[in-house]
Amino acid sequence: MNHESKDIVISIKGLTKSFGSLSVLQGVDIEIVKGENIAILGRSGSGKSVLIKIISGLLKPDSGIVKVLGQEVDKISAKELQELRLKIGFSFQNSALYDSMTVRENLAFPLVRNKRDLDKKAVNDAIEEVLNEVGLLKTINQMPSELSGGQRKRIGIARTLILKPEIMLYDEPTAGLDPITCIEINNLITKVQKQYNTSSIIITHDLTCAKNTANKVAILMDGKFLSTGSFEEVFNSQNVNVKTFYDYNFI
Ligand code: ADP
Ligand code: MG
Repeated sequence: MNHESKDIVISIKGLTKSFGSLSVLQGVDIEIVKGENIAILGRSGSGKSVLIKIISGLLKPDSGIVKVLGQEVDKISAKELQELRLKIGFSFQNSALYDSMTVRENLAFPLVRNKRDLDKKAVNDAIEEVLNEVGLLKTINQMPSELSGGQRKRIGIARTLILKPEIMLYDEPTAGLDPITCIEINNLITKVQKQYNTSSIIITHDLTCAKNTANKVAILMDGKFLSTGSFEEVFNSQNVNVKTFYDYNFI
């Protein structure tokens, strides 16, 4: 029992979520231990983004238990949720940068909003530190529209790192990027895991990305996890659905 509260960063049991008559999640169970990095695979529309939005408190579950860092996301107060969300970095599929702000202003935003006690120098130091981490200090005064897709993705990740999250949620981090940029993003995700000690969920269709950034994999199908484990366990599985999924989607 003590083990549970100490090492498990995300614990989900019997999670369901529907939108009207569309039943998306139909009993999702998963546990993520501190330091673990798990890739979630699944067809488009299978509920992957909905799942991580529930984990980060952006959507409410219909039923089930969703515990993040020991707290039930849908049971805590708005203020507690706000505090919890500071520990969860969300890398959105579209990077979600503010187009009318410079890179510097985009990065300052979460700090100025959430850490009001920081003075100007501390804010600037923090911005320069994360920009260095993602290798883009030179873009500090640029507008998002002047950046490439890969650069925007990296700035989006930098913006979450500035709050030093314990958990990182990546929604299709390499989608739409060329192969070399994909490798750069994979390397950045791995670096963040080590340097910031994050546990992470990486939603992806890209098996190379999954293998490079995660030590476990879970396949979401028909509203549930079909299989969860190491890559070898899952893809050597004799489960006919796993085989079909693998063959149709990745080969
Ligand atoms: P994916 O696995 O591709 O990330 P999503 O989690 O985005 O899939 O969506 C799963 C299903 O839920 C889709 O059919 C989508 O249209 C639906 N859905 C997602 N968010 C909402 C919402 N806020 N309102 C209504 N339907 C939604
Ligand atoms: Mg999605």
